[in-house]
Amino acid sequence: MDDKKFSKDSRQIKLDPDSPNYRVCPACKKPHMVYNKGRDYCSNKCYQDFYNATHRVVKSSRHI
Ligand SMILES: [Zn+2]
Repeated sequence: MDDKKFSKDSRQIKLDPDSPNYRVCPACKKPHMVYNKGRDYCSNKCYQDFYNATHRVVKSSRHI
């Protein structure tokens, strides 16, 4: 294991696709690790962008 490059930045979380905490952000498709249940987004911005996009679709569908 080469952990040296990860210990340089403690905020960098190593991606592990086998981990139950591994997620792919629904908004930007970026793989990342989460330690907060129910949180699939890599950032608040992605959460807002995805929510807003979804909300727009729901809103427009109500027009039909
Ligand atoms: Zn994202």
